[in-house]
Amino acid sequence: MSMDALIQERIAPVTELRRRLHRIPELCFQEFKTADLLRGELDRLGIKHVDGVPDAPTATIAWIGDTNKPCIALRSDIDALPIDEQTGLEYCSEHAGRMHACGHDGHMAMLMGVAGLLKAMEKELPVCVKFIFQPAEEDGGGAERVVKGGALDGRIGPKVDAIFGLHGWPSLKVGIVATKPGALLAATDNFTAVFVGRGCHGAYPHLGADPIVAAANAVINLQQFVSREMDPTDSCVVTVGKFNAGTAINIIPDTATISATVRTLNDESRRRAQKGIERRLRGIAEASDCKLEFQWNDGYPATVNDPAMADYVAKVARRVLGNERFVSAQKPSMGGEDFAYYLEKVPGCFFFIGLLPTDRNEYPSLHSDRFNFTDAAIPTGMKMFVELVRNWGT
Ligand SMILES: [Zn+2]
Ligand SMILES: [Zn+2]
Repeated sequence: MSMDALIQERIAPVTELRRRLHRIPELCFQEFKTADLLRGELDRLGIKHVDGVPDAPTATIAWIGDTNKPCIALRSDIDALPIDEQTGLEYCSEHAGRMHACGHDGHMAMLMGVAGLLKAMEKELPVCVKFIFQPAEEDGGGAERVVKGGALDGRIGPKVDAIFGLHGWPSLKVGIVATKPGALLAATDNFTAVFVGRGCHGAYPHLGADPIVAAANAVINLQQFVSREMDPTDSCVVTVGKFNAGTAINIIPDTATISATVRTLNDESRRRAQKGIERRLRGIAEASDCKLEFQWNDGYPATVNDPAMADYVAKVARRVLGNERFVSAQKPSMGGEDFAYYLEKVPGCFFFIGLLPTDRNEYPSLHSDRFNFTDAAIPTGMKMFVELVRNWGT
């Protein structure tokens, strides 16, 4: 039987599983029902699994095949978002205020379909395969805990030699696969800066120190930081998404607080941004007779694909899907992914699969309350994962 036929045979149960998962979205590290469902499926397939790692009880790590062979890991995230679903789907979320709005239901279902398919041919595989069902991608860095817990280094199952992960991508047509070598997604750091001035009556500003004007200056100045201190050919984004200050129109408050996300594509830019932003904000605070409380928080590192592994994904996609179905991404996205933590430890590649239905020109974006993973994309994702395993060493 051809691989397409083998995948086609499993489309109905994978779609059904995707919908069951869609009904029970759970947030970071609370994915207990989801993990139960996944573990039950693994049991049904006769695949052994380890349930939970330290600090991440909802992680599930399973493996098949001869552990003396090289080990390829395939990863799916399992968490959902705090969003009220507005899709009107018959199988929409049964958990109020929570929703699979990033398509992780699709990722899980595809990976489970792949696990079943590979299990049926495990003796013929050139590698052993590890399946990582990882919690808390959206906020919490589940990947970091899974890595620390031993998912890659041989403490849980075989030691991993290479890892692959995918994400559905609404701007690409169904059937298309895209990735690139090097940085694919950005680091997602953030900071909070409190400008501490001296409050007073709004009519007598000379009697106080205005933290709102200082913070407003800072918001504008941060854009000059990006344009004057960061390499123009090496992307950086500073977006101040929160600005909080004041209680009344005629009162200068004591403090003004800004918080921002800072996106960079490599460690050097990341540290440069951290240092430069703090230096500028301190200068602005001082010039305004304010004090500054500055808190920098490291988010996910940049997701950096191993060049050889990105070439391998491209080669396999062209071979099994057709030349025209692989798109070599020209630029990184400034979004982030905790898949980055795996890529810091082992070579691998993260890639996108198209979710835009072939008869449409637009589709709700990831994290939209109207987003729904496109079932028509399931064969492409399954085929990529299966063939990345079967073609290893060719
Ligand atoms: Zn997301
Ligand atoms: Zn996602």
